[in-house]
Amino acid sequence: MDLKGKTALVTGGASGIGEAISSLLAKNGATVIINYNHSETKAKALSAKLSQDGLKCSIYKADVTAYKETQALVEEVIKEYGKIDILVNNAGITKDQLLFRMTEEDFDQVISINLKGTWNMIKSASPYMSKARYGKIVNITSIAGVTGNAGQTNYAASKAGVMGLTKSVAREFAKRNITCNAVAPGFIETKMTAVLPDSIKEKYLQQIPIGRYGQPEEVASMVLFLASDYSEYVTGQVVHVDGGLVMT
Ligand code: NDP
Repeated sequence: MDLKGKTALVTGGASGIGEAISSLLAKNGATVIINYNHSETKAKALSAKLSQDGLKCSIYKADVTAYKETQALVEEVIKEYGKIDILVNNAGITKDQLLFRMTEEDFDQVISINLKGTWNMIKSASPYMSKARYGKIVNITSIAGVTGNAGQTNYAASKAGVMGLTKSVAREFAKRNITCNAVAPGFIETKMTAVLPDSIKEKYLQQIPIGRYGQPEEVASMVLFLASDYSEYVTGQVVHVDGGLVMT
């Protein structure tokens, strides 16, 4: 897919699924702005690797929970590149705990990064997309937001929120040639899932019709499609990348 001349911003773009997305968009010709919050070393390493391969990218630190930081990030990209064609809201965390034991802080933090962070980025970037009459927004949600999950009342609520946000943004901006879609991964092998107990991992594996866990690159290829003009007539959708784990 040809993303030559496009500018793409990927939140949490230095590790896990985000790293795979940044790399694939860059390999397909986009100039990629890799956002990170804590992973500065990883962001620098990824940027060095992509640059060595002749691909275009830069890195930018911002905490997506802070609206001012997301505004500053977007303004910096506009100053440097003049536009944002593609926005991928990938930054996300889990803080799993049964409701009885979950603290208010655990709830607020997950909502703040996963849901408010996504809203902050869209709020900051959409005026520029709107003016340019072009935009591809891809939000990373989760199948947990579709099915719910014991131990993830915070996470599932945040990801269900991202789906509602995606559909509302899709409706608000469709006439301005901006699409907004979500990708719902199932069980993908990253540091987020590496910490799960073996018994839980095994339980998931048994339920995945394709019979294996997913890889970050498999999420990235769906993001690439939704970020490209091949998906011109697709908006407001939640696309599962989960080996068939959840079929609706
Ligand atoms: P990782 O833990 O590997 O990556 C999480 C990313 O989020 C990191 O790059 C991190 O950046 C970034 N991030 C966290 N907080 C902030 C913040 N405040 N501001 C900016 N960036 C932040 O997890 P995954 O790669 O697995 O997850 C990526 C996305 O995919 C998440 O939204 C997750 O919910 C979703 N997902 C993952 C699944 C899986 O099975 N792995 C399944 C379903 C959905 P930094 O390190 O720089 O802080």
